Amino acid sequence: MPELPEVETIARALRRAVVGRTLTRFYGYTEKLRQPLDAATINRSVKNRSIVAVARRAKFIVLTLDHGGAVVIHLGMTGSLRIDKSPRRAHDHAVFALDHGEKLVYNDPRKFGLIKFCPTDAELKILLGKLAVEPLAAAFTPAYLAAKNARAATPIKTQIMKQEIVVGVGNIYASEALHRAGVAPERPAKSLTAAETAALVAAIKDVLKESIKHGGTTISDYRQLSGREGNFTRRLRVYDRAGLDCRHCGGKIRKITQAGRSTYFCEKCQV
Ligand SMILES: [Zn+2]
Repeated sequence: MPELPEVETIARALRRAVVGRTLTRFYGYTEKLRQPLDAATINRSVKNRSIVAVARRAKFIVLTLDHGGAVVIHLGMTGSLRIDKSPRRAHDHAVFALDHGEKLVYNDPRKFGLIKFCPTDAELKILLGKLAVEPLAAAFTPAYLAAKNARAATPIKTQIMKQEIVVGVGNIYASEALHRAGVAPERPAKSLTAAETAALVAAIKDVLKESIKHGGTTISDYRQLSGREGNFTRRLRVYDRAGLDCRHCGGKIRKITQAGRSTYFCEKCQV
């Protein structure tokens, strides 16, 4: 599932590729992704409008159009975007035709994604306005996380993945950040010291920035806009490395299950 660095990587590439382009037509080839896909309405709304900005909020990609309104795309579990002129492939569910003859194609085998047109800022706000703080924003501070942790008996790994606390930190980067911060994933959130909380907030920001720099992490489906895999995969320190040596201390990486998700950690480095 794409997490924040993967979506940010796609948004940045999309910004370079489509800002200034005009949408000539929208084609929908499925009735429903996560929500019903109303292709006729989207086509009427976006046709002959140009894209003036591309932004990311949490894991939503927002294409702002001239004269107001925006297209919002969420990749769900297995969604990907590409720009090309190639014939339709399996699981291509939507196509935005562009004025220079290329197409922005949405592909999604499991169809948990979302494509929605928001005609006004108010409607965009209904979709995005309630989202919690961005992990890379200045507002995500040790004091902020400490306040959320204060009475929480939840394991810290589950805690930092709660989207109502901070958006976009998923399973891969939660494990990676905890390893960097030296904090064991099963620790109750409220047991972290001020120094540990500060180290964890810094580690979350660092690992996300580093992954964005390397084009994100590919475990299964994720591809960059270019079709290439993310290059951060080989830099993972614990995720998907059960039984392998810890790159820091040489100890063995362990795998456990927390809240139904796999957690990877080093018993020696993380206390
Ligand atoms: Zn270690």
